[in-house]
Amino acid sequence: MSSDCLFCKIVAGSIPAKRVYEDELCICFADLRPQAPTHLLVVPRQHIASLADAEPAQSSLLGHLFVKAAEIARASDLDHGYRVVLNTGADGGQTVDHLHLHLLGGRPMTWPPG
Ligand code: 5GP
Ligand code: ZN
Repeated sequence: MSSDCLFCKIVAGSIPAKRVYEDELCICFADLRPQAPTHLLVVPRQHIASLADAEPAQSSLLGHLFVKAAEIARASDLDHGYRVVLNTGADGGQTVDHLHLHLLGGRPMTWPPG
């Protein structure tokens, strides 16, 4: 846990969030400023600042996040598809320095992203 990290505080429960899933490795909660009808964040309990900081020992944890995102998408009835986004670093648009997957769905997405 990083004491000044927003998502570590949400994981710990000291900042509230609308949780939709949790297990021993990750939690999933609603984004505060949704960009689609479904906009969830899948967050490891362990503090990893960004994908750029990920290490080989964290490979199975990272795989777990993606598999859970797919399960949560199924449970959220995103049968027409969805987008998983992992913003990384300043140019990647990352604003919270605790690695997280965005799960966006419920509308068609455009490409390329902004
Ligand atoms: P990033 O820009 O780092 O890829 O994504 C951070 C996301 O966290 C943004 O979509 C933002 O709306 C969301 N967010 C920021 N602060 C909070 C918060 O306090 N609670 C929740 N649930 N989401 C937050
Ligand atoms: Zn953190």
